[in-house]
Amino acid sequence: MDTTSCPECGAVAEVQWRDVLESTDGPVEHAKVLCLHRHWFLLPVASLVRPPAPQPDGSVAGLTARAVHSRPRPR
Ligand SMILES: [Zn+2]
Repeated sequence: MDTTSCPECGAVAEVQWRDVLESTDGPVEHAKVLCLHRHWFLLPVASLVRPPAPQPDGSVAGLTARAVHSRPRPR
């Protein structure tokens, strides 16, 4: 299960599903997030707060890999 932090109250929130939605900048992967206090949000995955300890082997789904991939690498 993917978890993140609620943008509104900061509580633990569950990522219920992800899907790619069209936007003005092209397709953007979004996630539906539901927090412990029943706040829910549909957010671009890039704006999710990532869990503090991602798996070093990259097994935490596409979120980590995409985020890393989309950033310029420091040299
Ligand atoms: Zn909340």
